[in-house]
Amino acid sequence: LDKQILRIPGPTPIPPRVEHALGQPMIGHRNPQMGELHARLKPKLAKIFGTKKDVMILSSSGTGAMETAAVNLCKSGDEVIVVVTGAFGERFADICDAHGLTTYRLEMNWGTACTPEKLKAFLREHPSVKAVFMTYCETSTSVLNPIKELTDTVRSESDALVAVDGVSCIAGVEANMDDWGVDIYVTGSQKAFMLPPGLAFVAASERAREAFKKNDHSRFYFDLNKYAEKIENNSTPFTPPVSLLFGLDEALNMMMEEGLENVFKRHRLMSNMTRSAIEALGIPLLTENKYASPTVTAVKPEQVDAEKVRKILIQDFKIYVAGGPKHLKGKIFRIGHMGYCSPADVFEYIAALEVAFKKAGANIELGAGTKAAQEIFLNA
Ligand code: PMP
Repeated sequence: LDKQILRIPGPTPIPPRVEHALGQPMIGHRNPQMGELHARLKPKLAKIFGTKKDVMILSSSGTGAMETAAVNLCKSGDEVIVVVTGAFGERFADICDAHGLTTYRLEMNWGTACTPEKLKAFLREHPSVKAVFMTYCETSTSVLNPIKELTDTVRSESDALVAVDGVSCIAGVEANMDDWGVDIYVTGSQKAFMLPPGLAFVAASERAREAFKKNDHSRFYFDLNKYAEKIENNSTPFTPPVSLLFGLDEALNMMMEEGLENVFKRHRLMSNMTRSAIEALGIPLLTENKYASPTVTAVKPEQVDAEKVRKILIQDFKIYVAGGPKHLKGKIFRIGHMGYCSPADVFEYIAALEVAFKKAGANIELGAGTKAAQEIFLNA
């Protein structure tokens, strides 16, 4: 049976309601209907990001939005800090290097989060930085960095702008942009937003907007001044992926119907169920509970080869989980549980994982993981 079950940390499955919405007849991007669509999208997107300002929509994957943040906030020669907790922190730093910024990397061990203490000490070593770049959910390790505390730390130590990559968690966790004082959040459509890849979102504070205006670093398509001006008038500077915007409208409707608080609770519950199940099987996790992301879990089997487990999941069940990035290749696999994913889906992959661990030769008790997940569910 050709029934693939996508449990990688993005792209994620698309709800039938959203698939249906994606297929609506094309409209002109300067038609009045497009203005009405933007007017419906704006308040819903603003809620997801926790901001009163209009969220900008780009035709891009997440990386394009990261680069957009860097080149709009900073110019060549500016000093910046990049908090590197894994592969996506590295990517932010590489983007900064590519644009000639003077990049100071605050490197953490892969699997741990950055702490306010570490960031504070690093800020004191580099007092004249223009911006601090960080990753909210580090997808490569399944760490959720404490963005509120890290933003507080930057604010108490300097005037640096705070730029956050929220690609693999926003819409699944709190963003609280205005309350926390984050200056720029970027994210993509293919993860917790329950959409295909192709859209990116940028939310920006007043301070960030001032910085875009003053910044003369060269850019054209991704000049956020253009997007900021257009979105105020319910429009985009260039032709947007219209079908994806239809889908976005419906995906946001689904989140609003569920209630954002419930969306966040569901993600935390799925993470807790997954982690308890893996622990009950006696299999180690890469990250500590206190840094665990609600959207992705990295499993680090020691008795058996992680890649072997992953291959059995594909062969026997067509369940796709992600492997380990860079030096973690072969050592971990990562389960995505975000967007269109429910506790019932957790039971599905946990039961399948028990079979896969057993077949790979791990000494586990069948059903122990499922039972632990059931208990978490019942006690939630
Ligand atoms: N940042 C994070 C945290 C991510 O998880 C990803 C995608 N896995 C990206 C950036 C890059 O996004 P994209 O592949 O859409 O360019």
